[in-house]
Amino acid sequence: MTPRAQAPRPPAGALATARTRLLDEIRAAGVQDAAVLAALARVPREKFLDDALKNRAYENNALPIGHAQTISQPVVVAFMTQALTQGRRLERVLEVGTGSGYQTAVLAELVDTVFTVERIKPLSEVARTRLAALGYRNVHFGYADGMNGWLPYAPYKGILVTAGAERVPPALLEQLAPGGRLVMPVGPQGRQSLKLVERRGSSFREQDLGWVSFVPLLSGKV
Ligand code: SAH
Repeated sequence: MTPRAQAPRPPAGALATARTRLLDEIRAAGVQDAAVLAALARVPREKFLDDALKNRAYENNALPIGHAQTISQPVVVAFMTQALTQGRRLERVLEVGTGSGYQTAVLAELVDTVFTVERIKPLSEVARTRLAALGYRNVHFGYADGMNGWLPYAPYKGILVTAGAERVPPALLEQLAPGGRLVMPVGPQGRQSLKLVERRGSSFREQDLGWVSFVPLLSGKV
């Protein structure tokens, strides 16, 4: 599948300047993967924010998206994506926590097919409309509790969780393909560390990528 028919035009003026500065900052923070940087340069983050916040789209901050949720911080999106893809074009990737759909779009630029689940219905619906308008054709949206993964499309070469929990939900480990990687914030609220888990046959190898702060992974749908 082709990720998009046509790249959107870069934002004009102040936004374009802020965007260049942000990309420099992300590069300086240690994200070297050219494909990841190019994906971040292509996805227009202002399109994932309410009008009142669009002028802040290229600040390196998480920002509110309603329903007590946030769009992830750009540098964290870049790090998580780099850790997940590691320079390869993955086939099927599951994202838990669609939110605004920003991380979803970054993934859609880099992998064959993205399956993304969200437990808050209006967020899922807005993200679906938004990504369709941006021309993404390789994303499947699910309104579901992602703690259970998304079984019909499993196994996944990559699983990216954009909300934190005390431990990785077992269903997600089960739905990871052999050689697949999972990236997720794990630990108590406010003191999570970003974990990279790699599946090797029936065993899992875990690595710590540093401290992060994410909204909690919650069970059930609303
Ligand atoms: N990647 C998103 C981050 C959104 S914040 C972005 O950049 O916009 C995390 C999201 O995870 C929230 O939208 C929240 O509702 C969702 N979430 C939390 N627990 C979940 C669960 N069990 N299943 C699916 N989504 C969940």
